[in-house]
Amino acid sequence: MDEKKKNNVDDTKYSMETHLIYGKDVSNKWDYSHHVTAPISSSTTFRLDSVERGAAGFMQFANTKEFGNDAPIFIYDRLGEPNKDILEENLAYAEKGEMAVSFASGMGAISAVLGVLAATGDEVITHTTLYGCTISLFNNWYPRYNIGVHPIDLTNPENIYKVLSDKTKVIYFETPANPNLDIIDIEAIARIIKTENEKRDENHQIRVVVDNTFSTPYCQRPIEHGADFVVHSLTKGVGGFGTDMGGVVIGPNKYRDMLLLYRKDFGAIMNTKAAWSILTYGMPSLHIRQKHMVDSAMKVAEYLEQHPKVEFVNYPGLKSSKNHEVAKRLMRNYAGEFTPGSLVYFVLKGKDANDSKMKGGKLMDYTADNAYTLTLAVSLGHTRTLIEHPASMTHSVVPPEKLEERGIKAGGVRIAFGLENADDIIKDLEIALEQI
Ligand SMILES: *Cc1c(COP(=O)(O)O)cnc(C)c1O
Repeated sequence: MDEKKKNNVDDTKYSMETHLIYGKDVSNKWDYSHHVTAPISSSTTFRLDSVERGAAGFMQFANTKEFGNDAPIFIYDRLGEPNKDILEENLAYAEKGEMAVSFASGMGAISAVLGVLAATGDEVITHTTLYGCTISLFNNWYPRYNIGVHPIDLTNPENIYKVLSDKTKVIYFETPANPNLDIIDIEAIARIIKTENEKRDENHQIRVVVDNTFSTPYCQRPIEHGADFVVHSLTKGVGGFGTDMGGVVIGPNKYRDMLLLYRKDFGAIMNTKAAWSILTYGMPSLHIRQKHMVDSAMKVAEYLEQHPKVEFVNYPGLKSSKNHEVAKRLMRNYAGEFTPGSLVYFVLKGKDANDSKMKGGKLMDYTADNAYTLTLAVSLGHTRTLIEHPASMTHSVVPPEKLEERGIKAGGVRIAFGLENADDIIKDLEIALEQI
């Protein structure tokens, strides 16, 4: 085989969908040129041949500048091994970033990127609406490290100026945000921070970190819009089958070593079997799964929008969505088509917040017992459509009186689309909505 030719696949000749399947089919991380599917690696430690080679391996580790990142000497799983390394190459490529470092879970990745970027005395600015455990990370642990956290409404990027200070090191947000699908204008925020950074020395630069879990790189690539880092829970849309936990940080090469050191010392290492599954099943099928989910989400959002029992629907694909225009600019697939994501958030009509919450709960209980195509469960990006009630489930870390402040309606319902036929989902929703 002409390995050189295989290694230098012309990016402009083939579509990204095809690249997601092949990745680098000869990787220096492991030449698997004779395997059609990469072998699963399950070795915690690696034979080093000689003391010299062992010493060279330790020298290479987390020393990207001097040794590059191409032909590692594997030493021990927690430092690096083939399955994770190959997955990382392909994830960096899919997100259009320079490098990727994988972690045991999305939270492993989020705590690592923040752990590398912010130290005692620094401050982080976040959007008010975030994944529940990310809120918990900021509320329960950051006070101990004396890292300040400012949750503000980033749907208006100018709000940054209200809390920006010399101590600010990170702007952190999700877009679409979990669970209400607020859209944050990555480009506007990147512009503000670029101007601010021009006044700051190298040690005081602010970095923009986007949790892109809800979009997956198929629907949106934040680095193309000016973000510095992307984090993912690979457990969700990228993994795609609900079988394995994983997380990743994608960003500039110069942070690779710090992230590797952090991972080595804090230990949130992705299981090799998880890396292999995501590489083998998740990545190659990402585009067909996401495309189907986006089509279903749009169809069901339109159905819910006209339903008399629904107060409002937030789906970035709907013209009525408050951030439709921003979403249209940011959320594009590799071919440039508008891909507004695979989640829909809607709120049921009620006499008051309590009544609406009660109806949300009732809808959930009915679907849990009766709906074939809707499963009451947290998570997203699964083969099955998952429905949940954020106020009592994923966001129960937020006290009831603070829910509105965090952008969450007591009666809000989140649907994360799977791979079913959308008409079947509508059938089940129709019957469920009759019950409330
Ligand atoms: C699930 C999720 C996480 C956390 O990921 P884990 O893999 O469960 O640790 C972070 N952010 C978002 C938006 C998520 O949906």
